[in-house]
This record gives sequence, structure tokens and C-alpha cells, in this order.
Amino acid sequence: MIRRTARQLLEGISTLFFPRLCLSCERPLAAQQELQLCVPCFESLAFTDYWTLPENPVTDRLAGRLPLQRGVALLYFNRDTVCQSLIHALKYNNRPEIGRQLGKLLGQKLREAPGFEDLSGIVPVPIHAKRRHQRGYNQAEIIAAGVAEALSLPVYPDALLRRQFAGSQTKRDRMARLDNVRTSFQAGRGDFSNQHLLLIDDVLTTGATLDFCGNALLEHHPSLRISVGTLAITEN
Ligand SMILES: [Zn+2]
Repeated sequence: MIRRTARQLLEGISTLFFPRLCLSCERPLAAQQELQLCVPCFESLAFTDYWTLPENPVTDRLAGRLPLQRGVALLYFNRDTVCQSLIHALKYNNRPEIGRQLGKLLGQKLREAPGFEDLSGIVPVPIHAKRRHQRGYNQAEIIAAGVAEALSLPVYPDALLRRQFAGSQTKRDRMARLDNVRTSFQAGRGDFSNQHLLLIDDVLTTGATLDFCGNALLEHHPSLRISVGTLAITEN
């Protein structure tokens, strides 16, 4: 009891000097809620319900390209929204906490969802080593850690590798760039025979990255089953 009171006191002091701020608008938060967003920011988030739908815009976007068990996105990604500012901060403003907390929220949705019961592990989409160095982390890996925490599953960050290419991509035409992305992913370490893995990325746009990553894994592990999950999905 005494120990608990002392801890509360310490927490109170630390909140006084380092108040927990909303991850989106940076207003101080009153309560110690788990998701570090103020009520207005949280309520402005547009959640999908794709985890309840075997067919949805995520599976549609990858149809005919990557054989999927399930596909989900947590949020709709629209311009000038809290979702956009969160994803931007995660990718460019050194806020890994956003990825972990939203990843955990995604994992909590999947815990009760049909079709995810037999998941055996989580695989983050790899980013270029140079970008990882600039950013300090791979945001997909952070999201994957949050999902894995909620589902009590292992993360396999080495299951996919991203090869490095020399030279700038901006001068090449679109097809050559796409081909470059396709061949830049390859299966890495681990035997995933007969497993069901969840491939994780931050935002689903064209689906090219998940398509190429998933197919690189399937080529190497033909008996593997794949689902995909992202924090957000753009409008078509
Ligand atoms: Zn806020």
C-alpha cells in the first residue's frame, strides 16, 4: 500500500514536470489512458471494420496479385486528419510510440476476429537501411511489435530482406521503378512451412509493396499462408 502510494506520488510529480501529451495535438492528457490520444483526437479517428469482413477494400486491392487469408486496415487515411498527422509523425518526427500504440490497437481488434485465430507470427515490411538509419527505426517493425504484444505472437523482422540498389530512383520511369521495388524484396531467415503469417506495413496505398513482399515470402515458403495488416488505407 505504501509502495503504491509512493509510486503514485512519483508518477504525479513526473506528470507535473513531463505531462503526457496527446500524440496528435500535444495537449496535456488528464488521465493515464493507455492510448495516448485526447478524447477529441481519438473520436476523430475513422475506424474501418475490416477485421469483421473477409472481403473488404484491403483484400480487393490485392486481389489477383497476392493470395490472402485475410486483409485488414485499422483506419481510413484521409488528408488533414488526425490519422494523417499520426502517420506523418511516426514516419518523420521520431514518434515510434504512435506505431506501438496503434499497432497494439490493431492487434486487439484481431484478437476476436474470425480468420486470425491460427496466426503464428508477424512480419514487418523492411525499409532501406539508409532510411532506417535516418529515421532511427523501421516504423513497420514498431507497429508489428504492438500487434504482436496484443496477440502474444513472435515478430520475425528477418523473414524479409530489402536489397540495396545504387543510384537515384527518381530519374527512372515508373515501370522501371516498380520493377526495382519488386526485385528488392527477398525471403530471409526462418522456416515458415505451413504457418500463417501477418505481414505488416504502415499505410496501404497501391498495394505494390505488400504484393511484392508477400510473393517473395510465398516463393520461398510455398505452404505459407499470408494475411496483411496496415494502420491505414488510402481512398482509391
Ligand atoms: Zn489530441
